Amino acid sequence: MNASVAARSDVGRVREGNEDSYVAKEPVFAVADGMGGHIAGDIASQTAVETIERETGNGAALDPQRLAGIVQSANAAIWERAQGDPALRGMGTTCTLALLADGKIHLAHVGDSRAYLFRDGELSQVTEDHTLVGRMVREGRLTPEEAERHPQRSIITRALGVDEHVDVDTFTLPVREGDRILLCSDGLTSMIGGEEIREVLANESAPQTAADRLVDLANSAGGEDNITVVLVDITSDQAARGPEEARATAPAPPRVRVDTQPTPPDAPPAAMTGVHRLGELSAASKPPRRRPRKALVALLVLALLIGGGYLAARWALDNSWYVGVDDEGTVAIYQGIPEEVLGMSLREEQRVTSLEVGDLPGFLREDVETGIKVGSLAEAESTVEDLRSRARDLEFEPKRDGAGGGGG
Ligand code: MN
Repeated sequence: MNASVAARSDVGRVREGNEDSYVAKEPVFAVADGMGGHIAGDIASQTAVETIERETGNGAALDPQRLAGIVQSANAAIWERAQGDPALRGMGTTCTLALLADGKIHLAHVGDSRAYLFRDGELSQVTEDHTLVGRMVREGRLTPEEAERHPQRSIITRALGVDEHVDVDTFTLPVREGDRILLCSDGLTSMIGGEEIREVLANESAPQTAADRLVDLANSAGGEDNITVVLVDITSDQAARGPEEARATAPAPPRVRVDTQPTPPDAPPAAMTGVHRLGELSAASKPPRRRPRKALVALLVLALLIGGGYLAARWALDNSWYVGVDDEGTVAIYQGIPEEVLGMSLREEQRVTSLEVGDLPGFLREDVETGIKVGSLAEAESTVEDLRSRARDLEFEPKRDGAGGGGG
């Protein structure tokens, strides 16, 4: 099977450094989006890519069965490096790794970078985002549309390097000539919507032109994060012809999950999921914007205060909630907004939790310190529960005895 590959990684318009890394060496492709601060994030994603290159390079057997193991190795390498250097503690990275073999694309995935399949003019997301909002959608607590616009949509619940062990999703998808596989970091998908991505892939036939166009569009939309795209065009499927050819030519993109967590009982059948998610993508006409919304809220409050609309401002604040950290380093639920306006604090602590911010892994700690904005007290409480379970999952130097035990 042959492919034509293009890649581009761009710092974007806001960040100082590029913490994304990628691999584009047929038949191995990957995107890793590092986090945990400038240097640490860069080291985390670089370490992932180096591990992938080492384990797939120079004639090493490229058994698709090994793919998840390679991601586990990358996890171990980052974890060990973080353990040896306090400045790197808590660093992490996403990793979406693809191998083209036997007429199929094999994927191993952790985090909120994405793999898409573009086929016959339609775009479908193959990977599942390991994000707080992704989980809330799967649990029926948010609609996909709400998730696309949720201010905290990029809080991830799974990453490489933050724990000794990591669960890796794997997917296998038969591909055929004309298919395009897109791997990308969230710097693309948080800036432009699925329909915009689809249009570029439908209209730009040269892979490098298409990759450049995607990056340019994300930058035009604000470029708030590092943007990385790896585009793989399947140019020949001669090698793919085999007993499974019939499936490969089925009209709907098959989406087979090989190694997964239990699927919720109400979830659509696996084979339908790609199509279903495509519908969701097409419906998302407006790309979500995170930071502008935050600035907008502050400006709105300011304008209302200056304009004498005190009651309106009060109403806005009464209906704003966030999860933040108090002076003692304890996670707390606030009514109002974390930002100060004209030096005024516009928040009121409503609940103190038993969760210490120090119990959270670094990449979540930053989000909580900034303030995780939510729409209601109930949503704030479930966010705290999610944070609590992440702290427990990671066993991140728990400070309290029997935190996970069934005392009573
Ligand atoms: Mn990112």
